[in-house]
Amino acid sequence: MARESLVAGVDLGGTKINAAVVDPKGVILAQDRVKTEAAQGFDAVSQRLSTLVRGVCQEIGIETSALDAVCVGVPGSVDDGSGQVHRAPNLDWTDAPLGPRLSDSLGTRVFLDNDVRVAALGEYAYGAGRGASTLVGIFVGTGIGGAVLEGGELRLGSRGAAGEIGHMVIVPGGPRCGCGQRGCVEAISSRTAMERTLHELAKEGRKSRVFKILDREGRERLTSSVIVKALREGDEVMAEVLRGAQKNLGLLVGSIVNLLDPDVVVIGGGIAERMGDEFVAPIRKVAHRRFLLQRDREKVRIVPAELADRSAPLGAAVLARRKLASPAPALVAAK
Ligand SMILES: [Zn+2]
Repeated sequence: MARESLVAGVDLGGTKINAAVVDPKGVILAQDRVKTEAAQGFDAVSQRLSTLVRGVCQEIGIETSALDAVCVGVPGSVDDGSGQVHRAPNLDWTDAPLGPRLSDSLGTRVFLDNDVRVAALGEYAYGAGRGASTLVGIFVGTGIGGAVLEGGELRLGSRGAAGEIGHMVIVPGGPRCGCGQRGCVEAISSRTAMERTLHELAKEGRKSRVFKILDREGRERLTSSVIVKALREGDEVMAEVLRGAQKNLGLLVGSIVNLLDPDVVVIGGGIAERMGDEFVAPIRKVAHRRFLLQRDREKVRIVPAELADRSAPLGAAVLARRKLASPAPALVAAK
């Protein structure tokens, strides 16, 4: 009997690496995660990634060389031809040879793509966007990432740069964004932006419970879990900051719907994962008011992502299989 084709999908994030071995039906056979420890640099992180994939393979009793391919979703831009990570700000990598490095150490083909694109593909294939003809994915975390799929295919644009939804300007002259521009939605509605707003309000004497929770837990940065805890403890300042972020996300979604008229807008990321429709409903409400065509507006489903931390590994696995099946040569061939 022919061996079943297995691939590994990996989500390389700024704080954790999450890897899964996936069968042809999209069933995860084994999955595990480790901390990225990005501060240790490229060599250490690529080694941790290799060790993680090896460990996940061991769980089901195979060598990594038995995988048909590994596909890694990277938080940044990648070079399709060379297997280089062109730029990954959260990891502080520029032109890092991740593809060749992993291919050498794992003994199989390695493909790279952007983490948000693979997560959107995962939601399309197995999650909230199943069967969509046009899907828009918006992932709200430290930044805001986006991806557009048409007929299940990622829209790449003329230079491979399509889908940067987080950098659509919604407040001209607004807060400075990590990209250098002002007023991008990422600078207004991301978790980082909410954290900045909380600090600004604290300076005005409006103290959020968030700071007490951070002290209590010995944390420094605002996380999705801290946001949710503050809300559960009745923190009115956090609620107000969140409402502001949701309103601006609603304006963004409304504009995107007027442009693309998608059947599904999937909203993912840590806060959406934890709060589900409680996070998405206010966004949907604002978006609905901006729809130019009001008829059948419920046909545009604005919904939370369903797969949580499985979306990127599953999407990466789908992409690996597509790249294996396509006639174009692999990015990085196994030696
Ligand atoms: Zn920006």
